[in-house]
Amino acid sequence: MGREDGIDHRIDSEGILHVVFDRPGDRVNLLTPRIVREIDHLLDHLKGRDEARAIVFESAKPGMFLAGMDVEEIAAIDDAYRAAEAARFGQAVFQKIADLPIPSACAIPGPLLGGGTDRALACTFRLAADDPKVRIGLPEVQLGIIPGFGGTQRLPRLVGLAAALDLILSGRQLDAARAARIGLVDRVVPLPYLAREVSALLRAAAQDPRHSSRLVRRARPLSISLVENVTPIRRIVLARARRALTAKVRVSDYPAPERALQAIEAAFSMPLRQGFDVEARIVGELVPTRTSKNLIWLFKGQAALRRETNSEAAPRRVRRVAVLGAGIMGGGIGQLAADREIPVRIKDVRYDALLSALHTAGEVWGERVRKGRISRREAEQRMAFLSPTLDDRGLARADLVIEAVVEDLAVKQEVLAAVEERIGERAVFASNTSSIPISEIAARALRPERVVGLHFFNPVHRMLLVEVIAGQRSSPEAVATVHRFAVELGKTPVVVRDSPGFLVNRILMLYLNEALHLLSEGVRIEAVDGAATAFGMPMGPFALLDQVGLDTARHVAEVLQAAFGRRIAATTPVLASLVDAGRLGAKNGKGFYLYREGHAVGPDRKVYPLVHAPGSRELPVETLQERLVLAMVNEAAVCLEDGVVREPRDVDVAMVLGTGFPAFRGGLLRHADDLGIAVLTDRLSRLADAQGERFRPAGLLREMVREQRKFYPR
Ligand code: NAD
Repeated sequence: MGREDGIDHRIDSEGILHVVFDRPGDRVNLLTPRIVREIDHLLDHLKGRDEARAIVFESAKPGMFLAGMDVEEIAAIDDAYRAAEAARFGQAVFQKIADLPIPSACAIPGPLLGGGTDRALACTFRLAADDPKVRIGLPEVQLGIIPGFGGTQRLPRLVGLAAALDLILSGRQLDAARAARIGLVDRVVPLPYLAREVSALLRAAAQDPRHSSRLVRRARPLSISLVENVTPIRRIVLARARRALTAKVRVSDYPAPERALQAIEAAFSMPLRQGFDVEARIVGELVPTRTSKNLIWLFKGQAALRRETNSEAAPRRVRRVAVLGAGIMGGGIGQLAADREIPVRIKDVRYDALLSALHTAGEVWGERVRKGRISRREAEQRMAFLSPTLDDRGLARADLVIEAVVEDLAVKQEVLAAVEERIGERAVFASNTSSIPISEIAARALRPERVVGLHFFNPVHRMLLVEVIAGQRSSPEAVATVHRFAVELGKTPVVVRDSPGFLVNRILMLYLNEALHLLSEGVRIEAVDGAATAFGMPMGPFALLDQVGLDTARHVAEVLQAAFGRRIAATTPVLASLVDAGRLGAKNGKGFYLYREGHAVGPDRKVYPLVHAPGSRELPVETLQERLVLAMVNEAAVCLEDGVVREPRDVDVAMVLGTGFPAFRGGLLRHADDLGIAVLTDRLSRLADAQGERFRPAGLLREMVREQRKFYPR
């Protein structure tokens, strides 16, 4: 075992064996099959020797522990047998830690995830630093698999049914205090004392290893134990969890959470080793699935996009932000930055807009307080980072000004001109415009090189995508700065070329446009929306139009139609007739759907005569899905030709994060590859003949067919 493997060990003067993770040349530590084997050798080597009195697992990287199994390794396994065997081996190695006659501990200074958490669960003790870098979880279901090195069996035994279900089925991560609250961590100590505390605890435990767990308090409330031990109550809890799951996702699309639930169930109904076997078999079943391969691929794509600034310059650190416009978007952006404890000055010309922004931000934090994710005190502290203003006071100190005023070029230029005089020379001005080219906004700027686009999606606190737009004159440093800022806010930035509608809205407009064609041809609203959701979209195109607002959608459509004319010709006239008839969507309770108390109660048949359509034509679901999806695939190909983004991966991650395109399909172009480029190009040609030129296959697709290429060569 040596440093080059990413794991090392030494024995200290007190007889404590330190096993140290330090992946060479990387910021993070990962588990690999080789490291698991190294741990195995080390544990075998310890057997029958008494030089070590205790063992501690730690990391040589500051603020990092073990970010789980290397996803490349999981992605490379294509058969169930190999996957299950890999799980069994990991389980057996970690069981050796649990079986050691000496106490073991984990010193957790930073993220501990996936297989890393499985391993920590096999130790006698887990101590974490009281540091925001600490995040502990089992995020496997987000990759379409389940924890495979014993986590589904050990975690419920340690923290109980409800907490284990919550953690494993959601894949969410806990900070140190919350991990301690559920009993996943035994002690939380200040970072500088972590090593010392672990040693002290291990020394004490080594005196009497059989009773070492008495050194920490791990009593679970009676009410919780009751739930677990009484079979009928447990069944009710599990049934409720299952119902909640199936209400959220289709098990056929995302099988992992449901299978994780089965594994957790096993933890209560059979001995540990049998439970391990259930876990390994489920891992074997899930690892080779297309869903898991697609989710892992998207995970890697997101990580890559967060790393690549696509700019040769170094980013500047954003310490203070100003947000101009406290509407839906400005308010959301302000809340998000304040949530990261970045001081935000938020300006609007209307007092009520400021009030409502603060109120909405308070509701987002309030919801998290209710769910136990943050404390009331933390919510109040974050709120204090948000300071509203009606004038320009406090803007001068901002390193980044984000403009989110109305979508109007003249207003945006005016706002930029006014603020440019006040802010520092190196401050970056980012517009949240959804359709206006950045170069036009910057056309009259004093410092156009500091002007960029930073396009958030609605609702800001939920949507993980941000489009970063480099205008013709934007400096690499300005682009790098907003890219880094977006990452700091927890978003995945996709750098796109400055062009109408950028990437996501442009492709999405083809989906909406096709839905409006179908409507005009007489297809019913709910038939189109039903086909889209059956495909896996979170919302059908008509429900989406109602949410966006038909007036807003019309406005974006006009911009895009001016640029791309014939490809989206259906959108503007249909939307115009509805808007003119006073239909704005959910916001005024009148759109494609009827609304009662803010909720859609069914399609509104009055729409049909307004657009001169009968609303009675039946088309097969597959036909509807094909038209909606192929319209987007074709436009994505045109975007690639136009250099809007660099590669297919950018399209796929952006569409999944920005529109909710079904992640289990891996994104629009992964899905296109699965359909087969030749097949879909042929379908597009036939659709073009039948429906119109908008379907004529993009040059790129025809070229790919000729060269027998895919978007993703294997
Ligand atoms: P909104 O109408 O909710 O908010 C705009 C706010 O700007 C209003 O409160 C208005 O009072 C304020 N304002 C107007 N002139 C101002 C000025 N000179 N100085 C300061 N404040 C001023 O609009 P929104 O939906 O938040 O959109 C804002 C921007 O974000 C637009 O460019 C829009 O295209 C873009 N956008 C919107 C969405 C969305 O879904 N709503 C999504 C992405 C991007």
